[in-house]
Amino acid sequence: MGDCAFCSIAQARIPARRVYEDKMFLAFLDIAPSNPGHILVIPKEHHETLLDLPDAISARILGVVKKIAAAATQATGAQGFNVLINNQSAAGQVVFHSHFHIIPRFKGDGLKHWAKKEIPGQEMDAICRKIVSFI
Ligand code: 5GP
Ligand code: ZN
Repeated sequence: MGDCAFCSIAQARIPARRVYEDKMFLAFLDIAPSNPGHILVIPKEHHETLLDLPDAISARILGVVKKIAAAATQATGAQGFNVLINNQSAAGQVVFHSHFHIIPRFKGDGLKHWAKKEIPGQEMDAICRKIVSFI
């Protein structure tokens, strides 16, 4: 994809602090990290969101995420880590080349989890049934 920042990184047309690469995947430091060792894992192929990834990619990418998360945890001395994917702008996706965030976590690091909402039980039952109907 011509103007995709992560395609440019995958093709080494723009620099990044690369930590891992194989035939299909690349991992590099996020340029604006939430914590030290914040890493992005991408497929080299351009796909917008998790749902666009071919099965051959989605089936393998978690193995890479695990490997890199273990290394980032050891390297930073983190007590834990978050793995997350933003899909579509409503969910905070800014770069439309699907990627996993790996964020090392430290006790008291000040990062906040998303807020919870009170949703009535009836509404929970209805959405539960509806989701099941789409699977
Ligand atoms: P999103 O919100 O799309 O899940 O997150 C995109 C992430 O990519 C952000 O955390 C942002 O800091 C990171 N990012 C955007 N452009 C670049 C870049 O050119 N190089 C690197 N290393 N990270 C980038
Ligand atoms: Zn791309």
